[in-house]
Amino acid sequence: MALSEFELIGRFFGAPAAAGAGAARPDVLLGIGDDGAILRPPVGHDLVAVTDTIIEGVHFPVGCPAASIGHRALAVNLSDVAAMGAVPAWALLSLTLPQADEAWLQAFASGFGRLAREHQVALAGGDTTGGALAVTVQVLGFVPAGGGLRRAGGAPGDWVFVSGTPGDAAAGLALEMGASGPGGLDEAWLRDRFLFPTPRVGLGRLLNGLASACIDVSDGLLGDLGKLAAASGCGAEVDLTRLPLSPALIRLLGAEKALERALAGGDDYELCFTVPDRRLVEAQELLAAQPAPTRCIGRLASGSDVKLQRAGSVMDFAHAGFDHFAR
Ligand code: ADP
Ligand code: MG
Repeated sequence: MALSEFELIGRFFGAPAAAGAGAARPDVLLGIGDDGAILRPPVGHDLVAVTDTIIEGVHFPVGCPAASIGHRALAVNLSDVAAMGAVPAWALLSLTLPQADEAWLQAFASGFGRLAREHQVALAGGDTTGGALAVTVQVLGFVPAGGGLRRAGGAPGDWVFVSGTPGDAAAGLALEMGASGPGGLDEAWLRDRFLFPTPRVGLGRLLNGLASACIDVSDGLLGDLGKLAAASGCGAEVDLTRLPLSPALIRLLGAEKALERALAGGDDYELCFTVPDRRLVEAQELLAAQPAPTRCIGRLASGSDVKLQRAGSVMDFAHAGFDHFAR
């Protein structure tokens, strides 16, 4: 290693102006450089803590751009924070690297730091070790005491919403892995949805106190809606004609395969949430006024199945199986 561990941390993460340092925050009483950070949560708030690891060859392909790895390592955590309806504040970064490549570290730190600053997140500490490339990030944030969103809390009749255009990231990953694509703007859009997902932090914060339940969509919309429904003790009905598919995904795969990808693809980092009927009008006005696109795709229902509806016919996904559904 050309750089010592100490130099590496200071250069890319520790110095206030370092690419990976994130935002400066007065509630970081002691940041990088000691044995631990001292952080001061605001009075009257509860802490929300999340962590996620991404590993080369598992969560991103070998050779993935370093800026994307830095962005995604933080984004997947911010997405969890958003799903809790929390405001992120501090991050810890545990980096395992095969070697200290300065150009790689600069790009990684830039991808991480840009997203951190965008969300006023300070990097308060971490760990640096040698080994196969893996990145663990922990994010701490807060909600007003007693607040926060959960997967549980939905009830039959609540309207189900999703943000963004699910399925794009899974298609983008396939392109990153070498699938042949259309080139041009469509391919660039889809790849970007995998490489640089948009954690819906502002949306999550808006939903705190408005949504009855919320989950972030990381493992496929249908599966994650199923988890929300199960935690809420209900089933769900999704109207397939209402799924928000991107034009790029439809042009790449055709409408039917695009639908399949939107239901089952992973890595979207969108929010799926439910709104009680009595708050629907209020929610629609608030949702229309914020930047993340959202779409109502169905309702929670009694029972425990997630059912798919189209043109009056109902399919039980759990029993139909995906290949059958896709014909
Ligand atoms: P220790 O041996 O006491 O754990 P380290 O040398 O691992 O100390 O870390 C020194 C300081 O640098 C600590 O404040 C730690 O939080 C910080 N640090 C180490 N690695 C990183 C990293 N990848 N990103 C941010 N801070 C880091
Ligand atoms: Mg250490």
